[in-house]
Amino acid sequence: MSVTPAQQDVLRSFSPQSPRDLIGEFRTASASGVQQAVDRARAAHREWWELGAAGRAGCLARAARQLEARREEAAALVVREVGKPAAEAAGEVARAISILDYYAQAAYAATGEVYPPSSAGLLITQRRPYGVAGLITPWNFPLAIPLWKAAPALAAGNAVVLKPSPESPGCAELLAALFAGALPEYCFAVVQGGSDTGRALVDSADVVSFTGSDRVGRGVAAQAAGRSVSAQCEMGGQNAAIVLEDADTGPTARLVALAAMGYAGQKCTATRRVIVVGEGRDFGPALIEAVRSLAPQPPDAEGAVVGPLISEPARERVLRAVAEARAAGGRVLAGGEAPDGEGWYVEPTLIDDLPADHALSREETFGPVATVHHVRGIDEAVELANSVRFGLVTSLHGRDLDRLLLAAGALQSGLIRVNAPTTGVEFYAPFGGEKDSSYGPREQGLAGLEFFSSSRTITIAPHGR
Ligand code: NAD
Repeated sequence: MSVTPAQQDVLRSFSPQSPRDLIGEFRTASASGVQQAVDRARAAHREWWELGAAGRAGCLARAARQLEARREEAAALVVREVGKPAAEAAGEVARAISILDYYAQAAYAATGEVYPPSSAGLLITQRRPYGVAGLITPWNFPLAIPLWKAAPALAAGNAVVLKPSPESPGCAELLAALFAGALPEYCFAVVQGGSDTGRALVDSADVVSFTGSDRVGRGVAAQAAGRSVSAQCEMGGQNAAIVLEDADTGPTARLVALAAMGYAGQKCTATRRVIVVGEGRDFGPALIEAVRSLAPQPPDAEGAVVGPLISEPARERVLRAVAEARAAGGRVLAGGEAPDGEGWYVEPTLIDDLPADHALSREETFGPVATVHHVRGIDEAVELANSVRFGLVTSLHGRDLDRLLLAAGALQSGLIRVNAPTTGVEFYAPFGGEKDSSYGPREQGLAGLEFFSSSRTITIAPHGR
C-alpha cells in the first residue's frame, strides 16, 4: 500500500491521447510525509534483511507472479497513462516480470570476497544493505525503471521508498499494490509528488538512485553528496546513429527511423542525430520514407508505433524546437507539424542542413525529432558524435568489422550498439552513460546489486596469538 502519511496536495493524472480522461487523483506527500515513510521503511528493512536470501527471493518471485496475473491490466494502464503504444507497453510489462524474476535469483549471489590474510585467520569482504533506498523516476518507463531500481535494492536487503514522476502516479500505485501483496509491510512505499517530494526523499534516504533529465539529476547528485550518501543518476542523451557506406540501405533506414521515432522519441536512448558517412548515398531518401511511414496513431490502435507526447507543454517544447531549427536554416525533410484533433501528437520530424552547433543538434529535445548530418569519413563521424556533452548510447551500422571496431573504440559513449538500434536495454547487463549522461556507478544487472550495498572488510584472527 502507498504510504503518504502527511498529505499536502492532490495530483491529477490525465491520458496524453485523451486529455480529458482522468486516470486518478493521488495524494502527494509533504516533506514530513516523506520522512515518515523513510522512517517506517528503515525500521522495516531490518526484518527484511533478516529474512535472508531465500526469504527475499521468495517475496520478489511472488511480486513477479502477481504482476503476471495482472499483466493485461498493467499494460493497458501504461498505454492509457503515458501514451505508450500497446505492443511496447506489453513488452515493458514482460520485461518488468523478468526483472523481478532475475533479481529474485540474484538475491542468492555471493556478497563478498576472500583474501589471503597477512597472518593466520581470515580476511573477507561482506556486502550489506544501506537501509532505505530512495528512488526517483521519470514517466517514460513507468514500470520498468522503478523496478530495475527497486528489485536490486530489495534483493540486496534494503527497503525502498519510490518517488515516481507526477506524470505516472497511477502506474506507481499499481507497483505499490503488487508489492503490498508480496513483501512485509513498509518495505516498499510510494510517495507521490513533484520536485519538493523528490528533494525531501534525497534529504532522508540512505542511498539514492535517480533517472530523469540532466538538469534535475545534477542537483540530486549534489544534494546527495552534501549528505555523503551514495547516488547514481541516469540522465539524458543526444544519441547518434552512424551509418557507414556499406550499411544495407532499406533495413538500416527502417531500424534508425524506429530508434528515433518509436514511442514518439520519448526514450533516453532514442536516436537524435543520424550521421551519414559518404557522398551520393541513397540513405537519405530511404530514411525520409521510413520516417514518413510512422504516422502518429492512438497508442491502442493496431500496429501503433508513434503515439502522443506526454503533455501539452512537452508538445510545445518540441514544436518550438522545430520552429527554431527552421529559423536557423534547417530543412524539414519529414513531419514538423502537430496533427489536428485531440491528444498531444507531433509528426515524426527529420531536419537537415542545420549548423552542427545548433541547439537541436546538441541538446536533448524529448520528442520525435532527429537531425541528419552528412560527413566525408568515419573519423569525422566519430568526432561529430563525440562533440556533444552527452554520452549515453551510439549505434554504428555497416559490415566492415575493422572499421566498426575502430570507430567503437573512439566513441565517448556508455553503450555502443553495432547494427542494433540505440534504443533497447538488457536488464541483466550494466547500463549507464558517459559525460553528462550519467553520474555514479552503473545500474541494472549485478552492477545494480553492488550499487545498493556497501562493502566492509573483516579481519578474523585466532584468539591469543
Ligand atoms: P525530470 O528530470 O523532469 O524528472 C525526473 C524525476 O525527478 C521526476 O520524478 C520528478 O518529479 C523528479 N524531480 C524533479 N525535480 C526534482 C528535484 N529538484 N529533486 C528531486 N527530484 C526531482 O525527467 P522526466 O521529464 O520525468 O523524464 C525525461 C528525462 O529522463 C529525459 O531527459 C530522459 O533522457 C531521461 N531519462 C533517462 C533515462 C536513462 O536511463 N538515462 C531513462 C529514461 C529517461
